[in-house]
Amino acid sequence: MTDRLLHCHRTESENDTSGGPDLIKKNVFVFFCMMLGWNHPSPTSAQSSHDADPAAAQRAVSTLHPLDAHPVIALTFDDLPAAGSLPPGESRTKIAMTLSSELKANHLEGTYGFINAVKLQNDPDGQQALRVWINAGMNLGSHTWSHMSLTSNTAEAFEAEIAKNERALTEYAGSRDWHWFRYPFLWEGDTLEKRRAVRAYLRDHGYRTAQVSLDFEDYAWNDAYARCMATQEQAAIDWLKQSYLETATEYIKLGREEQQIAFGHEIPNVILLHETAFTTLMLPQLLDLLRTQGFQFASISEVEQDPAYALDPDAALKYGGTLPDQFMDSRHLPYPPFKPKPFDRLKTLCQ
Ligand SMILES: [Zn+2]
Repeated sequence: MTDRLLHCHRTESENDTSGGPDLIKKNVFVFFCMMLGWNHPSPTSAQSSHDADPAAAQRAVSTLHPLDAHPVIALTFDDLPAAGSLPPGESRTKIAMTLSSELKANHLEGTYGFINAVKLQNDPDGQQALRVWINAGMNLGSHTWSHMSLTSNTAEAFEAEIAKNERALTEYAGSRDWHWFRYPFLWEGDTLEKRRAVRAYLRDHGYRTAQVSLDFEDYAWNDAYARCMATQEQAAIDWLKQSYLETATEYIKLGREEQQIAFGHEIPNVILLHETAFTTLMLPQLLDLLRTQGFQFASISEVEQDPAYALDPDAALKYGGTLPDQFMDSRHLPYPPFKPKPFDRLKTLCQ
């Protein structure tokens, strides 16, 4: 996102911790990213012009309509088969079994999980986790071989990583459609040349981009959860659950409001989640939250039939973001107010 927000991200492939996109208030963001040791601190768009502008935020709010009573959403999970730290007694296979069982129980077979095949190397637990996911009726898409940053690499190197991921996709997904691509960190190119080159490569190789419309950085709770499970601090775990759901609520609302500002109306949603132990634990409550807000579930292919998903901001964005974020930032649209995520507490909890 942008202007008032920025994204920093870390890669589990580089840090052995969960990767994913994140967004927070801009001026505190770089600081947080640095505090967290994440790999790519940075403001989303250097050209942002609405930083912390209360008047602009107020104008944005004044144009909002009531939220749709029956919004649509597709769930997606990134960083398979291994996202984030493992709490004591957990394994990738156990997480995949629990997560896919919960999805099946909610009639969400066909849910997409985006893989970094590097994590399958010399890891029987990760390999088994992916088989469990597939055998439960879920689908696979690509997230590059090693969770590569397009901002930090050339288009050619990035394309080579897409190609390198295909052997595992073919092996595990078989004849099922795995030609969906999720950009690591939601970074689609910091130059127009890169952005256009990779989009052309994806198109020429039969991929569709698995865009995201909602993101609350679910992965950021996981490592604190793993630590608190190790130290058995129940009050801290209770706070993690509460703050996870509060943040989900806040950023689902923000994402929907952004759509009104960016597109003039809400669009069917794709939410970014990660296959972490904590998101797996919280999924039943997250599904309850979505149902309470009137959400109806759909597949990503159904959702992305909406014409909004064919739109391309065609802008160089160093730190990308959701599709609405990209439009907000590239068009310099003002964000409505939102609460920052509790990254400082997540970092220090149960240390
Ligand atoms: Zn990722």
